Amino acid sequence: MSRFWSAVVHGLTPYVPGEQPKLDNLVKLNTNEHPCGPSPKVLEAIRAATGDGLRLYPDPNADALKAALARHHGVRPEQIFVGNGSDEVLAHAFMALLKHERALWFPDITYSFYPVYCGLYDIQPRIVPLAEDFSIRVEDYLPRGDERAGAIIFPNPNAPTGRLLALAEVERIVAANPEAVVLVDEAYVDFGGDSAIALVDRHPNLLVTRTFSKSRALAGLRVGYAVGDAALIEALERVKNSFNSYPLDRLAIAGAVASVEDEDYFRASCAQVIETRARLVADLQALGFEVLPSAANFIFARHPTRDGAELTAELRRRAIIVRHFKAARIDQFMRITVGTDAQCAILVAALREILAG
Ligand SMILES: *Cc1c(COP(=O)(O)O)cnc(C)c1O
Repeated sequence: MSRFWSAVVHGLTPYVPGEQPKLDNLVKLNTNEHPCGPSPKVLEAIRAATGDGLRLYPDPNADALKAALARHHGVRPEQIFVGNGSDEVLAHAFMALLKHERALWFPDITYSFYPVYCGLYDIQPRIVPLAEDFSIRVEDYLPRGDERAGAIIFPNPNAPTGRLLALAEVERIVAANPEAVVLVDEAYVDFGGDSAIALVDRHPNLLVTRTFSKSRALAGLRVGYAVGDAALIEALERVKNSFNSYPLDRLAIAGAVASVEDEDYFRASCAQVIETRARLVADLQALGFEVLPSAANFIFARHPTRDGAELTAELRRRAIIVRHFKAARIDQFMRITVGTDAQCAILVAALREILAG
């Protein structure tokens, strides 16, 4: 604390990201990175972009990336916004589209950056509890008389539960709230869901955000984007161009374009994670864990008799890092990233040993 701080800074509660330990040889299953590396074509494109050209500013609009993404998703480039990770895209969306007189509605158990942005931008949240089975109840997001949302945001699949809401259910929420922006954060959708991008042409109030950090194995490159009606995108561009003209550097643009163009690698590496996930779920269930149905590259699991925080600490002693949240309703769970087959085998063996002890 310092007397030089602004009043805003005094009032902030910053987001705490999962640990990035400096040690090697850890089985790191705590921040949902992809266990396979990025496509070799991505690395090649980044290498090709390192040269004298770095003297020059990048394209402030990242037009090459917007064009590649527009082709990939079958939308127009004006329907795409790109940013320095989807966290930055989300931050701009909170200010540009989710801040209104009426509250912003989101689940009680969800991505913990949402309440942080509410604090940063002075947005009134309305916390909507998930159902007992940790699913999103569509009915809770439908307007009732004068009671309706200023805007709505939720991840699909949700984080950290991994639970997926069917696309038709997403559309019910979007269609029932035509006066409110509905932001669907699809950080994990490539691991088992249908994207709401298919709906953006029908619903001018729908914004979908995506990231290269999870399914494209590029968390270190910091690229995210949003897809929606051109008027929503224009709002994001207005905030971005009042904040930082060049959120994506030359290497990020080159790498991201190459990633979008290597569809085969992308599909195969996601399929690998999905396959490993099925084995991991079965192995944990065999050890007595309850595992929520996951459409993501992580699973959310609890043991009927062993404390989640203690299990997390025991794993850590064995150099295996998973995520535990000290929060109401979920403090008995561990969120475990789906790693390689070898990493998952080490995790399962360690849990077997801990439970036997
Ligand atoms: C990881 C994650 C993000 C942020 O992704 P970046 O693009 O790395 O900033 C956004 N939303 C959810 C739900 C996430 O889990």
